[in-house]
Amino acid sequence: MSEQPAQGQHSALPKHPERGGPVQYPTLERHCDVAVIGGSAAGLAAALQLARQRRSVIVVDDDTPRNAPAPHMHGYLGREGTAPGELTRIGRAEVLSYGREVLTGRVTGVRRRDDGRFGLDLTGGHTLVARRVLAATGLTDQLPAIDGVAEQWGHGVIHCPFCHGFEVRHQRLVQIVTHPLNPPDPLFRHLTDRLTVVLHDRTGLDKGVVDALAASGVVVEHNEVSRILTGPDGEVSGVELGDGRILDADAVVVGSRFRARADVLAGVGLTTTPHPTGAGDALAVDPRGETIVSGVYAAGNVTDPSLQVLPSAAQGSQVGAMIAVSLAEEDLRNAARLSGEEADWDHRYSGIERAWSSNPNGTLVHEITDLAPGRALDVGAGEGADALWLAEHGWKVTATDISGNALAQVRAETVRRGLAVDLLRSDANDPAPFGTETFDLVSLQYGSFKRTPDQRGLRSLLDAVAPGGTLLVVHHDLTPFSEPFDVATQTRMYDPEAFVGVNEVAVALTADPETWHIEVHETRPRPPGAASTHHVDDVVLRATRRAI
Ligand SMILES: Cc1cc2nc3c(=O)[nH]c(=O)nc-3n(C[C@H](O)[C@H](O)[C@H](O)COP(=O)(O)OP(=O)(O)OC[C@H]3O[C@@H](n4cnc5c(N)ncnc54)[C@H](O)[C@@H]3O)c2cc1C
Repeated sequence: MSEQPAQGQHSALPKHPERGGPVQYPTLERHCDVAVIGGSAAGLAAALQLARQRRSVIVVDDDTPRNAPAPHMHGYLGREGTAPGELTRIGRAEVLSYGREVLTGRVTGVRRRDDGRFGLDLTGGHTLVARRVLAATGLTDQLPAIDGVAEQWGHGVIHCPFCHGFEVRHQRLVQIVTHPLNPPDPLFRHLTDRLTVVLHDRTGLDKGVVDALAASGVVVEHNEVSRILTGPDGEVSGVELGDGRILDADAVVVGSRFRARADVLAGVGLTTTPHPTGAGDALAVDPRGETIVSGVYAAGNVTDPSLQVLPSAAQGSQVGAMIAVSLAEEDLRNAARLSGEEADWDHRYSGIERAWSSNPNGTLVHEITDLAPGRALDVGAGEGADALWLAEHGWKVTATDISGNALAQVRAETVRRGLAVDLLRSDANDPAPFGTETFDLVSLQYGSFKRTPDQRGLRSLLDAVAPGGTLLVVHHDLTPFSEPFDVATQTRMYDPEAFVGVNEVAVALTADPETWHIEVHETRPRPPGAASTHHVDDVVLRATRRAI
C-alpha cells in the first residue's frame, strides 16, 4: 500500500535519533462505520460484536476506567478476581484479533456533519468520521470531601457490597453516611456483625432506616467524620470523628455521587437527565441503546451507574449488535454493501495532493537489484510509486489496493507514462484477493492490512509467491512509538496491533522452514526519499519460497 500513517504525538514526542529534535506528526482524518468512545467493558464488548459483523470500528480510550483504583474485579463470571486492567487487556486483544483498532487518546467533541455522519474531534487535532457513535464513557465518582477517602478509594474505602463485600466479611466496618440518597445498606449488616454507621450528614435521612439499624444491633453514631486513619502498613485502621474519638476499622464504606461522562456529546445536543436516586445523572437511551439523537448510542455506566462490569459488558454487547442491525438495514435500503475499511483508505487518497512521495521505496530498489524481472505483485500499491518503478524496470506488475481512489491515481499515471500495470481492487482479507496467479516477487511495502483470527490475509499473501519467488515485506520499526504520552494533548491515530506486522509474517515463515528460506530479517535506517519523516527505521523481511 503505502507508508502506514503516523503514530505519535506532538508532546512527549520520541526524539528523532538523527535529527535530535522532537518529531512532528501530521493531523489525520480517519473514517469508520462506528466510533466507540471508551474502551473498557461496555465499549470493547460492543466493538467485538461489530468487528464480527465486518464493521470497521475505531475505539478511542483515554485509559481512565472507573474501577482503575481497585486491585481486583469481583462478581464477573468467568474472570472472578481478575485485575481490572487485565480484563481490559484481554478484551482489547480480542478486538484487535479482528483487526479493529483501539486508539489511545481522547475524544473532545462530537458533531453531526452535513452528510449525516458524525465528526469526532480528538486530541492532537485529529478527526474521526463515523456513521454511528457509541458512548461507553462511564461515569465519574464524586467522593465526599473527607480526608483519606480519595487516597483509599477502591482499597480500604469501598462503596459496593457486590464488588468488595465478601472481602470485608466479618471485619470491623464503618459506613459513613454522607448524603441522604446514600442510606446505610442492609447488605453490609449481613456481611459483618461488626458494623458501625456514622451519620456524617443526616440531612433528609429516613429516620425509620436509622431506627431499624439501631434496633438490629448496629452501632449508630450521630457525628461528623474528620478523617480516615491508616496504620503503618498504609491500610485503613480507623475513622476519626469530629469530637476526637476514634472508631477502629478494617474498612470504610462510603457512597459517591456520580456524574455521567457525557459532556463529549454536547455538540450533538445531548445532555444527561437526573438519576432517580438524586445522587447523579445518566444518559437516557431506548431499549436498543440509542439516545434521542438518531445514530448516537450509549452503553455501560454512562447510562446506568448501578451496572457492574459484567452487565456493562453485556449492555455493550447488546448495543453493539443493535448498531450492526441498524447499519445493515441502512445498507439494505440503499442496496449497498459498503466497506468501512475501503472508505477509510479512499478518504486518504481522495485529495488532489499526493499522500506519499512519488519515489519508489529505496529498500525495494535495493533488495531486488539482483532479481531477474518477472511477474510482480504489489500489495497495497497506494499511489503506485513502487508498481510504476517495477514496470519501468521490466516487471509485469499487478498492483492491488483496497482503495479505488488509489488505483485511479495509479491508472492515470500509467497512462501518462505509457506503462502497462494490471490493477486489482481488493482487500487482502477478501477471498482470493490476488487472483489465482502466483508471482516471482510479492512486495508489501508499508502495507497495512488487518489481522483476522484465521489470518486469511496473511495466508493469501504467502500463497501468492510462486515457487522460487521472493517475498519482500518492509515496515516501519514502531518501537519508539510505544512510549507513553499525554492523552490530553494527543491521540495515536493508528493501532499497529490491529494490522498484520512484519514480525508476524516472519513468524509464519519460520514455522514452515520446508517452504520458506528467510534471507533477511533486520531493522535498518530508513532510506532517504520518503514523504514522511517521523519514521526512522524500517524492519526488512526478505524470503524465498523454495522451488518444488
Ligand atoms: C473502586 C471501584 C471498584 C469497582 N469494583 C468492581 C468490581 O469488583 N466488580 C464489578 O463488577 N464492578 C466494579 N466496579 C464498577 C465498575 O467500575 C463499572 O461497572 C465499570 O467500570 C463500567 O464499565 P464501563 O465500560 O461502562 O465504564 P468504564 O469502565 O468507566 O470505562 C469508560 C471508559 O471510557 C473512557 N473514556 C471516557 N471518556 C472518554 C473520552 N472522552 N475519550 C476517550 N475515552 C474516554 C475511559 O478511559 C474508560 O476507559 C467498581 C467501581 C469502582 C468505583
